[in-house]
Amino acid sequence: MAKIYSFGRTGVHPDERKDYTENKPIEKVKSGEFLYVAVNQHIGAPAKSIVKAGDRVLKNQVIAKGDAPVTSVVHSPVSGEVVEIKSMIFPNEQKNEVIVIKNDFKDEKVLGTETKREFKTNREEFINEIKNGGIIGMGGAGFPTYVKMNSPKDKKIDLLIVNGAECEPYLTNDYRVMLEYTNDFLNGISIVLDNLSIPECFVGIEENKIKAFELLSERVEDKRIKIKLLKTKYPQGAEKQLIYALTKRVVPIRKLPFEVGVIVQNVSTIKAIYDLIVFNKPLTERVLTCTGKGIKEPKNLYAPIGMSVSEIANICGGIYEECKYLINGGPMMGKPFADISLPITKTTSGLLFLTDEEVTVEEENPCIHCGRCLSVCPMGLNPTYLKEASDRREYEKMDDVLDCIECGSCSFICPASRELASSIVKGKQKYTKYLKRGK
Ligand code: SF4
Ligand code: SF4
Repeated sequence: MAKIYSFGRTGVHPDERKDYTENKPIEKVKSGEFLYVAVNQHIGAPAKSIVKAGDRVLKNQVIAKGDAPVTSVVHSPVSGEVVEIKSMIFPNEQKNEVIVIKNDFKDEKVLGTETKREFKTNREEFINEIKNGGIIGMGGAGFPTYVKMNSPKDKKIDLLIVNGAECEPYLTNDYRVMLEYTNDFLNGISIVLDNLSIPECFVGIEENKIKAFELLSERVEDKRIKIKLLKTKYPQGAEKQLIYALTKRVVPIRKLPFEVGVIVQNVSTIKAIYDLIVFNKPLTERVLTCTGKGIKEPKNLYAPIGMSVSEIANICGGIYEECKYLINGGPMMGKPFADISLPITKTTSGLLFLTDEEVTVEEENPCIHCGRCLSVCPMGLNPTYLKEASDRREYEKMDDVLDCIECGSCSFICPASRELASSIVKGKQKYTKYLKRGK
């Protein structure tokens, strides 16, 4: 029996609800007539469109880029014509520029892309290739992968961790990638280890994905890669918690994993790296889970980035009238949205179409001082204290909000339905602005 790893006693156990899609093979989706490609899909300095209405673009052509040290490029998922560049409001009230491309269905690609190639080079060129391929963290955060890989020279990286926890309820996209693209995934890990000279890799997979754990354990040939079983618990896949669970290394407060010699990558990001390095294919499509009782046929889809949510919903048989909530991502950390004309992005791991039956909305009640929020917080914070300080803008008490990983465990467990996480997240934004203003 394999050893089971976990990050400690904190965390919560939400209903998994993965059964809607866990046995549904990934369906490849063809691009429709219009693609809506967001210019900013990453964390970091904004990118800017480098095309204009009327321009013809090829598939895999760079259409947006930035020049700051932390930014990302965006490629066209189809060949066709740019018909408009417009502004749209994304989940979390984020205003974003969107390049609207009319697909000509000719599938004309930039020369040399999507062609098998020999890629033998050095660390710098590899990292540059990852940058030019527009690869960003596909687990939801969207941090540019080339930045993550480019750790300071004095920090020796001795371990790559691949996050196969997929601890958010409902989502099964990483699970299906591990099951269906097993060899690409394992080869992708070897490519990263070779090019960054990292001696070892742990792939962490929760117990509820035992088939993936068994399949990878059976197929893995590269002795540097070890498949590890994690306890099913939320947020087992949060970066600091995952590192601690698998290595007992503690990433210092407000520091990054390279401080403890680790780089963490998500499953889909590894697959995207494989596609880029082996087939010269930039990141223009991804696997996502469309699920919930509000959608007629829940599915795992391999869809072009820029496809609208309404089109995705139609591919899944349409939305039931009872669907009341739309969430981009998982139910714990995902962001609600109402506009189904919005497109999917590189970080859309899932689209949840939920009914009243699946969502409990209760009025906030006074705190009964039960202490449960404290006992589950994986960062050891005091959520009730931070909520009050955030609501009242008591900046002198708010410094800890910066350590909140926005996991939502405190709100999930609260018997008084206190809106802890959302207040703390807002507090984090207010406090960051306050610090920038110079207090
Ligand atoms: S305070 Fe932040 S890190 Fe702690 S449980 Fe709440 S959301 Fe998660
Ligand atoms: S879990 Fe809710 S009721 Fe209990 S201490 Fe925290 S805020 Fe108060």
